Amino acid sequence: MDMIARFRGEHKFLSNFAKSPIEYKGRLELEDGYSNMYGSISVKPKPSVRFVGEEIKSPTVEHAYQSFKTEDVRRKKKIRNAKTPFESAKLGRADETSVRDGWVEDDIKAKVMWKLVNKKFEQNPDLAQKLLSTDGVFLMEGNYWCDNYFGVCTCNSCHENVQRPRNMLGEILMEVRSRFRQNMKEI
Ligand SMILES: [Zn+2]
Repeated sequence: MDMIARFRGEHKFLSNFAKSPIEYKGRLELEDGYSNMYGSISVKPKPSVRFVGEEIKSPTVEHAYQSFKTEDVRRKKKIRNAKTPFESAKLGRADETSVRDGWVEDDIKAKVMWKLVNKKFEQNPDLAQKLLSTDGVFLMEGNYWCDNYFGVCTCNSCHENVQRPRNMLGEILMEVRSRFRQNMKEI
């Protein structure tokens, strides 16, 4: 097998919906004066993201990721406490969730995701082992909900119209995997 193209069944552990309790600092800070410091300069600096504040626990990466979309403390809590990752995603996307400044930037979403996926595998060694066991396999979250940023949608319309799906979650997972493998060699 040279590719995992669906994160379900025995590969469910790769999905953000997989049960994987994580702890992290629950507030998101964007560095590099992201909002307005550079005024009208058209080339924006790449923002770096930092997790600050008190330690929070979430049952899945999805719960954590969705909660970073907003700075509304009550809404964050509601999203984190959703019964299922599916439910937290629904709350995160709902109109009632006031999305924080900068969130629309793909770069920020990817950095938040990168940090969370790292924590997932750092804090769940059993999952890290499973990730390492996919060594050399291309990872891609094939989906049917038209997410061509984190995954690759396989519906007919996307298949015909989307030139270059980004597969960011797959890329992040493969990057984390090679970092873990490297660390193991050094021990
Ligand atoms: Zn689609």
